[in-house]
Amino acid sequence: MEKQQLKNLTLEEMQEWIEDMGEKKFRALQIFRRIYEGVSSFDEMTELPRQLRSRLGECAQIDSLQQIKRQISAKDGTRKYLFRVEGGAAIESVFMKYRYGNTACLSSQAGCRMRCSFCASGAAGLQRNLNAGEIVDQMISMSRDTGERIGHIVVMGTGEPFDNYDELIRAVRILHDRNGPGISLRNITVSTCGLPEKILRFAREMPQVNLAVSLHAADDETRRELMPVASAYSMKELLDVCRQYTELTRRRITFEYALIEGKNDAEQEARKLAAKLKGMLCHVNLIPLNRVEEIGFSGSARRKAEKFAEILQERGIPATIRRELGSDISAACGQLRLQERRDSPI
Ligand code: SAH
Repeated sequence: MEKQQLKNLTLEEMQEWIEDMGEKKFRALQIFRRIYEGVSSFDEMTELPRQLRSRLGECAQIDSLQQIKRQISAKDGTRKYLFRVEGGAAIESVFMKYRYGNTACLSSQAGCRMRCSFCASGAAGLQRNLNAGEIVDQMISMSRDTGERIGHIVVMGTGEPFDNYDELIRAVRILHDRNGPGISLRNITVSTCGLPEKILRFAREMPQVNLAVSLHAADDETRRELMPVASAYSMKELLDVCRQYTELTRRRITFEYALIEGKNDAEQEARKLAAKLKGMLCHVNLIPLNRVEEIGFSGSARRKAEKFAEILQERGIPATIRRELGSDISAACGQLRLQERRDSPI
């Protein structure tokens, strides 16, 4: 019989599960709390009767990830992890130190179906969806390994979170539980390539969670070249939905824009983008493209990025250039996982 992955249960689900085992409901809260204190064996849960501990050992497991690689940046303390999930696929997670606190970047899928042309994660397609427990466990494993508290989450690792919507929502619920990791919803950011129906659903179901939308172009033609998903939804359709999102949630939306040399970084593109985003409750996050060996594109020069930001700002669109962390450990965008696949194809 397969063991129950305990991090894959919300507290309510754990209560049901423990009652089904013929145990008292309050045991679930004891177990749930201990798991998110970072305990990794049932023996440490000394408040539980010995008999229950051994039963749990037989039918349940606390950890769902196996760490297979770790890189630590000597420059800024960024740590990049490669974890193995059940079935053999590898996923990446990143621990970053920002001034406002420690942040975990989590993957939502092993691989990705979206196949954006500049992204390493989708290069080999989707292997499988992660369950909520595997999403949550990335944060717990990193917190345990670093010995540090993590207060912020970005779902910007491998995968398209809205292509695994239900498990993503369950993961957010677990991460937010005050008996568990207790992360404030306002400190969680989910990044999507732009799936309109899911953006609206998210606005209704998770209005306090931050949303980032990967735009990467100022017109449909360029966007379609970079992101196959743009053939399914026009920019107009996407931006209309984003406007609805801000009206429903009253929250500022972040647009991500990877600056690619000679592709989408001309001054005229910045002006076009500014016109399209005019009046919107938004912020543009400019990311000079991280070079991925397999991919021909390269990132724009710093001066060009600054000019791009300036043009947006002059037109009233808040824009910043993302600070690069972990550049010495290929911490960006699926690179470690890609290396692993090169070394030992899974
Ligand atoms: N599927 C989600 C999360 C992807 S990763 C999404 O599309 O938003 C988070 C961000 O990194 C996205 O904006 C993605 O487009 C961007 N990204 C992917 N590869 C990149 C690269 N090589 N350089 C810079 N940004 C990249």
